[in-house]
Amino acid sequence: MERVYRGIGASPGIGIGRVLIYREPELAGWSETIEDTERELERYRAAVREFSARAEARAEGFELAVGAQQAEILRSQAAMSLDPVLAERIEKKIILGKPAEAALDDECRRFIESFAASSEEVLRLRAADVRDLRDGLLRILLGLPETDLSHLPPSTVLIADDLSLAAVSSLDPANVVGIVLSHSGQVSHCAILARALEIPAVVGTPGVFEALSGGEVAVVDGTKGEVHLGLSPNKLVGWGRNREQFRLLRDSLREFIGKETHTAEGVPLCLEANIGSENDVLRAQEYGIDGVGLFRTEFMFQSRDYFPTEEEQFQVYQRIALALQGRPLTLRTLDAGGDKLLPYLHHPQEENPELGCRGIRLCLREERMFRTQLRAILRASAFGNVRMMLPLITSVDELRHVRALVAQCREELAREGLPCGRDLPLGVMIETPAAVVMARLLAREADFFSVGTNDLTQYVMAADRKNTQVAGYYSHYDPAVVRSVEQIAQAAREGGIPVAVCGEAGADPLYLPLLLSFGVRELSVLPAALLPTRKAVSRWSLEEAHAVAARALELETENQVRAWLEENKRL
Ligand code: PEP
Ligand code: MG
Repeated sequence: MERVYRGIGASPGIGIGRVLIYREPELAGWSETIEDTERELERYRAAVREFSARAEARAEGFELAVGAQQAEILRSQAAMSLDPVLAERIEKKIILGKPAEAALDDECRRFIESFAASSEEVLRLRAADVRDLRDGLLRILLGLPETDLSHLPPSTVLIADDLSLAAVSSLDPANVVGIVLSHSGQVSHCAILARALEIPAVVGTPGVFEALSGGEVAVVDGTKGEVHLGLSPNKLVGWGRNREQFRLLRDSLREFIGKETHTAEGVPLCLEANIGSENDVLRAQEYGIDGVGLFRTEFMFQSRDYFPTEEEQFQVYQRIALALQGRPLTLRTLDAGGDKLLPYLHHPQEENPELGCRGIRLCLREERMFRTQLRAILRASAFGNVRMMLPLITSVDELRHVRALVAQCREELAREGLPCGRDLPLGVMIETPAAVVMARLLAREADFFSVGTNDLTQYVMAADRKNTQVAGYYSHYDPAVVRSVEQIAQAAREGGIPVAVCGEAGADPLYLPLLLSFGVRELSVLPAALLPTRKAVSRWSLEEAHAVAARALELETENQVRAWLEENKRL
């Protein structure tokens, strides 16, 4: 009999195959006493070294095969294993007579239990990360082999409670056609890696694990978030067709590789990439890009345990600028704070970190660190078409303050005989309500705007972008957000400066007629969204876009706007 289990679509596509149930082995059975404290401490330290080296090796493999942003997830696990606070606590317990396994288990359990009980999804996800770390270290201490799922049979639908990062990163997409996790969330690290591997995945389906014994034929619809079981042969044929359609769609995008981006009547659009590292540029360049519209420089800061030096930053920026061969490289200055904490920086304890010291505020507070980045950017501007962009701007003052710092850094560099480009366009991200209201004034002093629709939606709607409790409010289709974007584009037009969109809405095909109609001619999207966006742009003429946008602006509710854009969608 047919059964459907509903969860959350975590990686799009359809997979049809046989169920294989995977359970992580119980990690237990260590002794309760130790003989030699020094030896025990060394055993623990050696396990940490081994774990960190394995995570780093996995990250490198993943970076080559898939992409740097995803590899960062694996790297951050290596960094977490080396966390000095955790090490100190565990070592204290060992000194007090606990074996390494028990000390590790005790300490991690405290974190896991308190994070897992949190109502915040971000913290619950952190519990999964700590569990992953503990299990990985325990395996090494207990002499168990590393999880390796690289040799599963062809057409496997992998069902598990949750998967460790080591397990997901070892999967071979040629064999695994679908993943179903009874726990885990859409923004879990597992889900991100599954998307990167293009394996359809559904998460958050508690019932499914118990209902299966293995060997059943299952369909995983990672787009809708459904798992279908007990299907008749006829139905299976239908699902096979759906799977082909999805693949055809994916394949149809290939004709857009390396092409220019323009509307149906030939109006050109600048299509750029959002990147987090040098490798992302390489991937994006395979599809053809007009530049980089957003380099999230914070990844470089997050993947180290110290501030990257001026020289280190300069080298990275310079290499990317050169690789782009005259096409723009838009460097966003450090956007840390909020949920992006740097382990080596003292972030203030904040009740509402998203409304706290993040983005440009943090940079202006940590001026020495900021100057280092400004100098590196200025130096890189001698080697390409570099632009600088400031996150979380709320006032004209901030922009003026940065301009003054840039001028000072330029003078310093000139005195030191270090070359800079003659011109460094300075743009602002429009992602706060204050910036929307001030857009006309900001447009007089900024060289360009880039709309960060992710944060703009969060702040306009007063809905935390990671809080699933208020996910219903967090929508860029809301008339409040649509009107904000229109106002921003109008202010840019009046001020005679270009306006780009670099938030997720820029890659949403439903949103495209709005952006085209408002006059946005520059979109910056993740590498995976480049081809779908190029294809979507080619489906619209400006006249048609104006007609759809005019009606959308008359609508009063989020539902109406979404339904209207759905009705007019062109894929
Ligand atoms: C945004 O807020 O839309 C944006 C592009 O920045 P981030 O997602 O990095 O905050
Ligand atoms: Mg943002």
